[in-house]
Amino acid sequence: MNGEPDLLIGGTWRHAADRGTRDVINPANGTVAAVVDEATADDARDAVAAARAAFDDGAWRATAVTERAELLDRVADLLQRDKDDLARLETVDTGKTLAESHIDIDDVTSVFRYYSRLVGAEADRIVDVGDPAVISRVVREPIGVCVLIAPWNYPLLQMSWKIAPALAAGCTMVAKPSEVTPLSTIAFTHLLEEAGVPPSVVNLVQGSGAALGTALTDTDDVDFISFTGGLGTGRTISKVAAEHVTKVAVELGGKNPHIVFADADADSAIDHVLTGVFLHSGQVCSAGTRLIIEESIADDFVAELAGRAERIRIGDGMDPASETGPLVSEQHRAKIEEYVAQGVSEGAKLVTGGARPSDPALAAGSFYLPTIFDRCQRSMRIVQEETFGPILTVERFTTEAEAIALGNDTQYGLAAGVRTSDSARGERVVRALRHGTVWLNDFGYYTAAAEWGGFGKSGNGRELGPTGLTEYQEIKHIWHNTAPTPAGWFKG
Ligand code: NAD
Repeated sequence: MNGEPDLLIGGTWRHAADRGTRDVINPANGTVAAVVDEATADDARDAVAAARAAFDDGAWRATAVTERAELLDRVADLLQRDKDDLARLETVDTGKTLAESHIDIDDVTSVFRYYSRLVGAEADRIVDVGDPAVISRVVREPIGVCVLIAPWNYPLLQMSWKIAPALAAGCTMVAKPSEVTPLSTIAFTHLLEEAGVPPSVVNLVQGSGAALGTALTDTDDVDFISFTGGLGTGRTISKVAAEHVTKVAVELGGKNPHIVFADADADSAIDHVLTGVFLHSGQVCSAGTRLIIEESIADDFVAELAGRAERIRIGDGMDPASETGPLVSEQHRAKIEEYVAQGVSEGAKLVTGGARPSDPALAAGSFYLPTIFDRCQRSMRIVQEETFGPILTVERFTTEAEAIALGNDTQYGLAAGVRTSDSARGERVVRALRHGTVWLNDFGYYTAAAEWGGFGKSGNGRELGPTGLTEYQEIKHIWHNTAPTPAGWFKG
C-alpha cells in the first residue's frame, strides 16, 4: 500500500510483475485513499502454484488441530488489538460509517473464535461394521488449495467467512478481495503472518476479476473455489470450474422480501424496514428491498416510512453524525440512477428520494438519497432485479397466501423478514418462504454459529456454522482390519 508491496505470494511480499498499481478511491469525497499493487495473471498463477506446493508438502495439513485452533485465537486477538485501524480502512474504502465498520471487525473476530472452538471439538465418527477386528472410521481432511474471492460491500467480513474455516480445516489458499476495496484485506493478511500462519499457506493477490479470474479458476491446481459476489460472475466461475470438476460454493445476490402483516408491532416494523433496506445505503446482500405489506395499513405505513427515510443523516462515514454513507463508487451510483429511471418509466410511484442529495458538502462523494417506490408490480425490473442500493419497492397484499406468493416470487432466495403478532401465522409463513435465512419480527441479524446462504439463484453451499467448515473438508472412510485373513473369493 502506498509503495509497500501488497501481494503475498509464496511467503514473500512483492509488487506486481509489471509494477502495475490501482488507485483506491474514497467514495465519500472522490479522493485517492491509497495506491495498491495490481496483480497480473502471472502473479495469480504464481500464487496458486505456491498454495499448491504448500498443500502438497503436507506440513501444514498435518498440524495438530489444537495448533490450528490456537492460531485462529491469536488472529482474533490481533483483530481486536488493531480494530480501530482496520475499521478506519474499511470506512475509507467502502464508505460505510465507522460505527458499522467497528461492528464488522467484531463480527470478523467472532468468526475466528467460533471456528477455533468448532475445529477443536471435532471428532472422527466410528462406524460399526459388524466385525470386531475392523476399526472403521470416517475422518475429515482439508479439501486442499482454495481460491477465495470476495465482494466489496463487506470486504473483510466476507473474506473472514472463508479464511477462518479454510485455516481451521488445514487448507492452503489464495485470497482475492474486490479490486474496489482491498485495503482491509491487505492489512489483515499482515496480521495473519504475525499470528504465525506459515509461509505460502495464505497467498494474497488483488486486481480485477477480468484480469485474474482465469488464472485463479481455470486450473486443475485448485480444489475448491469459494466465491461471494454477483449472479453473473457466479455463473461464469461455476462454468469454468465445471471443466475441471472443481468444487465451487457461490454466495450470490438477493432480492429480499420484508412481509408486514397489519397486526405487526408498528414501531419496530417501521424501524426494521427502514434499517433493513437503507443500512449501508442498501449495499447489503440481505437488504430487505421489497416491502410486502398488508393493504389495510399500507398508506399510513409508507407515509411514516418516507418521513423517517427523509430524516436519515447521510454523510462521510468518518463523521460520527452520519447514519449512512455513500455508494461505493461513481459507477455504482450510475447503476442506481438507471434503476430509478427504470422504476419511474415502469409506472411505480416515487414517494421519496430518486435523486442525489442537494447538500453541496456531499457533491464530491457518490451519495444517493434513500428512495421509496410505492404501487410496484411483481413484473417490474426494480422489483425483480437486485439493485444493490438505497431503493425500497412496495407491494401490497390482502391474504396470507398472497403474501407468501409475493415473497417467493423471485429468482433469488437469500433472506426474508416476516412481521406479525400472530405467532402461529408467523411460523406458517416462515416455513413457506424459500429463502436461506428468515427473520420473524426481526431483521438482519446473524451469528457465526448458524449457516448462511441462499436458495435458488442466491447460490449454493453455505458459509458459517458447522457446514461452513465442512465445505473446506473432504470426507474419508478408513477401514482398518487389525486381524487380516484372505478374502477367499477366488479359489485358484
Ligand atoms: P462481483 O461479482 O462483481 O465481484 C465479486 C468478486 O469477484 C470481486 O473480487 C471481483 O473482482 C471478482 N470477479 C469478477 N469477475 C471474476 C471472474 N471472471 N473470475 C473470478 N473472479 C471474478 O460482485 P460485487 O459487485 O463485488 O459484489 C456485489 C454482489 O455480491 C451483490 O450481488 C451481492 O448481493 C453479492 N453478495 C452476496 C453475499 C452473500 O452472502 N450471498 C454477500 C455479500 C455480497
